[in-house]
Amino acid sequence: MWPWRGARAGLARGAPVPLSRRAPAPASGEEHLGLDLPPEVEDICRNVTRWARALPPELFTTAAEQGVFPAEAVLALLHLGVQRAALPVRSGGLGLGAVGGGAALSRLAAVECSLAAVVMASASCAALLHLGGTPSQKRRWLRPLLRGEGLGAIALTEPDGGSDLAAVRTRAEAAPDGWHLFGHKTFITNAAGPLLHVVVTLARVDGAGPCCFAVPAGTPGLRLGPPLRPIGWTAAGVGDVTFDGCLVRNAMLGAPGKGLSLVLRALTQGRLAIAAIGAGLAQGAWERCLARARGRVSANGRLLDHEAVRRMLVDMWVRAAAARLFALDAAAALDAGRDVRTEAAMAKLVATEAAVDNAKSAVQIFGAAGTRPGEPVARLWGDAKVLEIVEGTSEIQRLVLGRALERASPEAPTEAVPVAGRGAARGGPGRAEAVPPGSTPGT
Ligand SMILES: Cc1cc2nc3c(=O)[nH]c(=O)nc-3n(C[C@H](O)[C@H](O)[C@H](O)COP(=O)(O)OP(=O)(O)OC[C@H]3O[C@@H](n4cnc5c(N)ncnc54)[C@H](O)[C@@H]3O)c2cc1C
Repeated sequence: MWPWRGARAGLARGAPVPLSRRAPAPASGEEHLGLDLPPEVEDICRNVTRWARALPPELFTTAAEQGVFPAEAVLALLHLGVQRAALPVRSGGLGLGAVGGGAALSRLAAVECSLAAVVMASASCAALLHLGGTPSQKRRWLRPLLRGEGLGAIALTEPDGGSDLAAVRTRAEAAPDGWHLFGHKTFITNAAGPLLHVVVTLARVDGAGPCCFAVPAGTPGLRLGPPLRPIGWTAAGVGDVTFDGCLVRNAMLGAPGKGLSLVLRALTQGRLAIAAIGAGLAQGAWERCLARARGRVSANGRLLDHEAVRRMLVDMWVRAAAARLFALDAAAALDAGRDVRTEAAMAKLVATEAAVDNAKSAVQIFGAAGTRPGEPVARLWGDAKVLEIVEGTSEIQRLVLGRALERASPEAPTEAVPVAGRGAARGGPGRAEAVPPGSTPGT
C-alpha cells in the first residue's frame, strides 16, 4: 500500500472542500502509478487543475511580460483554498497536510509554474507565521493570508548572498514602541505583486542574533521595487524589498535570537513544496510533449514513431514519476511527524533535477516552436532552473545530505519511515526540523 493511502484515515474531519466530487477527473497521467490520494486532496487538485486550464493562454503571456499576474486572477486562485491546504483546520487551514498542500501545488505547476510560486511563497509565509506567531500576530497577518485576502512573502535573500542565512546584514534597532528595520532584500517572490499583505523577514539584533519580523504592507519606510522578471517564475511578482527605518510594533516572531531556527524549520517545509512544484512541472512538460508527439507528423510518421523521440518521452515519464514519489514520500513523512530534513533535501534534489531535465527535453521535442516567446514550453526551462536555486540551491541540498551521511547507516541510508506507521495530516504539518549545529543552509 502506498503510504499516502493511509492518509485518508488521518485527515481532519469537517475540512471545507471547495468543489463537489462529481467533477470528472482530469487526464493527469498519474493514474498508472495507482496513487490514491485522499478524496479531499483529489478534490482540491481537480479544482486547481480545472481552474488553471480554463485560463486564457494570453493571460500567461501578458503576466510574463508584466512580471505579475492580475490581482483578480490570483484572488480567484486563492478562493480555491490552495494556500491554506496544508495547515490544520483549527488554525484556519484545510487540514490536508504536506501531502495535500504539495499535491495541489504540483497540479498547479503542471499548468503554470509562476502561479504555483505565488501560492507557495504565500503558503510558506503563512507556515512561518503559524510556527512562530502569537495569537494576536496570527489574527493580524496569518488569518487574512489563509482567507485569501492577500499574499505573504518571505524576504531572506540579500544582495550579498542568499545561501548563508546567518550572514544577514539587515538590522533591527529597538525603538520605544517597537523596532526600526534597516536593510535590503532581493529576489523576493510576491514583493512586486499588487496583493502583498505581509513580509516576514530576518534581521540581526545586537546582542540577540537574527530575529524574525513581520512587516505589514503599507508600513512607512517599507519600499517595494518593480518586478525583476527573472528568467523563470517571471510572473511571480519577484522584486526587491527595502526597509528604510520602518517601524514595526508587536512584530517579532518567536523568541529573540530564535529567528534563524524558525526560518530553517519553515525552509524544510518549503523544500517539500518546491519538490512538489518540480514534480508537477516535470509531469506537465511530459504531458505537453506526449500530446505534441502524438499529433505532429514528421517524415511520414508521428513524432512519437521516431525511436529517439519515444526514448526522450519514456525518460521524461520516468523522471516525473520518480519526482512525484520522492515528493509525496517526504511529505507523508512530515505529516507523520518525522524529522524530514534528509528526505526534504533528497526530494528537492530529485524533483528539481527532473524538472530541469524534462524542461530541456520538452524544448527539444517541440523544436523551434519550443523557443518562441509566449510558448508554454519555452517558459519551462527558466521556471525549472529557478527551482534548483530557491529554498536552498542544489549545492546546499548536497551539503545537507553530506552531513546526513555521518548519521546514515548502510542498512537504512534514508532513515526510512516504516510504511505501516505512516498516518497523515491530522492537524497539518508535523514536527519540523531542529536546527543542525552550525548550519545555515540557505533559502
Ligand atoms: C525567481 C526567484 C525567486 C526567489 N524568491 C525568493 C523569496 O521569495 N525569498 C527569498 O528570500 N529569496 C528568494 N530567492 C532567492 C534565492 O533563495 C537565492 O537566490 C538562493 O538562496 C541562492 O542565493 P544567492 O542567489 O545569493 O546565491 P549565493 O548564495 O551567492 O550562491 C551562489 C552559488 O554558490 C553556491 N554556494 C553558496 N554557498 C555554498 C556552500 N556553502 N557550499 C556549496 N555551494 C555554495 C550556490 O549553490 C550557488 O551555486 C529567489 C530567487 C529567484 C531566482
